Amino acid sequence: MAGKKIIVVGAGPGGLTSAMILAKRGFDVTVFEKEAVVGGRNAPIRLDGYTFDTGPTFLMMNFTLKEMFEESGRRAEDYIEVKKLEPMYRLRFPDFDIFPTSNRQHMQQQIADLFPGNEGGYERFLATESKRFELLFPCLQKPYSSLFDLFSPALLRALPHLSLGRSMFGQLGRYFDNDQLKLAFTFQAKYLGMSAWDCPAAFTMVPYIEHGHGIYHVIGGLNAISLAMQKVCEELGVNIRTSTPVKRLIIEAGAIKAVELESGERCSADDYIINADFSHAMLNLCAPGELKKYTQAKFDSMSYSCSIFMMYLGVDKVYDLPHHTIVFAQDYKRNVEEIFNGLKLSSDNSFYVQNASVTDPTLAPEGKSALYILTPVPNNRSGIDWEAEKDRFAEHILDQVVARTELKDLRDHIEVRKVITPANWEQDYNVHLGATFNIGHELLQMMYFRPRNRFEEFSNCYLAGGGTHPGSGLPTIYESARISANMLCKKHGVAFMPPGPLPTKADFQ
Ligand SMILES: Cc1cc2nc3c(=O)[nH]c(=O)nc-3n(C[C@H](O)[C@H](O)[C@H](O)COP(=O)(O)OP(=O)(O)OC[C@H]3O[C@@H](n4cnc5c(N)ncnc54)[C@H](O)[C@@H]3O)c2cc1C
Repeated sequence: MAGKKIIVVGAGPGGLTSAMILAKRGFDVTVFEKEAVVGGRNAPIRLDGYTFDTGPTFLMMNFTLKEMFEESGRRAEDYIEVKKLEPMYRLRFPDFDIFPTSNRQHMQQQIADLFPGNEGGYERFLATESKRFELLFPCLQKPYSSLFDLFSPALLRALPHLSLGRSMFGQLGRYFDNDQLKLAFTFQAKYLGMSAWDCPAAFTMVPYIEHGHGIYHVIGGLNAISLAMQKVCEELGVNIRTSTPVKRLIIEAGAIKAVELESGERCSADDYIINADFSHAMLNLCAPGELKKYTQAKFDSMSYSCSIFMMYLGVDKVYDLPHHTIVFAQDYKRNVEEIFNGLKLSSDNSFYVQNASVTDPTLAPEGKSALYILTPVPNNRSGIDWEAEKDRFAEHILDQVVARTELKDLRDHIEVRKVITPANWEQDYNVHLGATFNIGHELLQMMYFRPRNRFEEFSNCYLAGGGTHPGSGLPTIYESARISANMLCKKHGVAFMPPGPLPTKADFQ
C-alpha cells in the first residue's frame, strides 16, 4: 500500500483529523485549504491583539479528541492545554439564573432550591440518559454504507433508546414538570441548529454528556485544537497547501480523477476526502448533472440547521461575567418558532455571550477582554437581505446584551468589532444556506440516510465533517474522520484498530 495518495479538500476539524490519522498509517496525504489559516469554522480570528474562536467554544467528550491524537501516535496534552469548566455555564432566564454543573450534588441543590420536587427527575435523567449514551454512541462510531448496517446487533440493542417519535423537549417532560427547567436541559438542541421541539429525543444524550462528564475550554481558544492538528500533520509529512481553493472535481467513469485548483493546476490521488461543507462542495465543485442522487432538487428537499449571527468584540475592560452565559429570550418558544418556522428575525432574542478571558488570559491584552456574542437566526432560506439588516441587527443584539447582562457600559469599551452574518457564512465560509450546523439531524437524515462516509456517487470519494455521518459537533466530526480513515485502510489493506470501548468516567478528565 505504501505511497497510496490521498487528497483532502478542506482543513477544517474533519479534514485535519483524517489527514493526521492517515499520514500516521503510511498514506501520502495532501490537504488543500482555501483560506490562509487552517481550522475552517474552528479557525482563530485575530484582531489587534485579541484572539477569538470563529465557531466552537464548548469542547465535550475530551476523550474523543485524545483518541484522535493517539491514533496519530501523539498525546493531546503535549499539544494543547485543556481546562474543565465548573460551573459549566450560566443560564439566564428572565427571572433567575442557574449555574449547571457536572458536580451532581451542587446540581441537585440548585434544582431543589429553584424547582422543588424535581430533584428525583434529575437522578432519572442521569440514569436513563447515561444508558442511552453508552448504547447509542458506539453506534455512531461505525459507518452506515448499506441498509443492513441498520440491523447490526449494537443498533438493535440501542433501538428502544432512540425514543422514536419523541422530541428532546418531550423527553425532558419525563423528568421535570417545569418548562424552564426543561429548557435548561434542551437548549442544547441548538448545538445541532435545531429546535428542542423538533430535535429527536435521542439527542438528550448531549445534555447528559455535559452533566455526566463536563465541558472544557482549550487555552488559546478551541481553535488551538486545529492548530495543534496542523502541527501533527506537518510532523507526519502531510503537505497542507493553504490559500489553495479547489475549483472543481474532475470526474471520469464514476470516480474522481483529479481536483482542479483555482490556479488551473490539476492534482490526482488514489482517493479523495471532502471536508468542505458537503452541500456546498457537491453543488459547486461538481458539474451540473454529474450527481444522480444529490441533485439540486434533493438539496432543496433536505432540511438544514439554523444559522448564526456572530459578533466578536475586543473590549478595553475586564468584566465580572462568567466564561459562558446563555440568555433565554423572554418568550423562548416564540423566538425558536420565528427562527425555524417563520424564518424571520425576532425582536426578542436568545443569545450566548462568551467571556473566555476570565479563564484564559492569552486571548486579550492585559486589562482587556475578547467577547463572543452568538445569536441563532434563520438560515438563508429566509431570503433576509443581510447587507441591509446587518448593522441594525447588531445594534439590536447589543441593546439586549446591555439590558440583560452585566455589560452595561459595553458600547463605551469596544475597541474592535467583527460581524459574521448568515450571508458571510455562505459566501466566505462556503457553508450552504449559511446553515452553520449543516444538514438537519432529523432521524431521516442520520446514519444510512445522511451523506455516507464513503460517498456513494464516486468510487474513490470519502467524506469527513459535519455534513456526513455521525453529524455536526466536534466529537462527531472527529469520529466521521476516523470512520473514513478506517474505511480507506480497509480498502487498501492497512491494519487499524477499531474504536475501543467508551472510557470510564475518570478517563473523561
Ligand atoms: C458559530 C459556531 C459555533 C459552534 N460551536 C460549537 C461548539 O461549541 N462545540 C462544537 O462541538 N461544535 C460547534 N460548532 C460546530 C462544528 O464543530 C464546527 O462548525 C466545525 O468547525 C465544523 O467542522 P467541519 O470539519 O465539518 O467543517 P469546517 O470547519 O467548515 O471546515 C471545512 C474547511 O473546508 C474549506 N473549504 C471549503 N471549500 C473549499 C474549497 N473549495 N477548496 C479548499 N478548501 C475549502 C473551508 O475553508 C474550511 O476550512 C460550531 C459552529 C459554528 C459555526
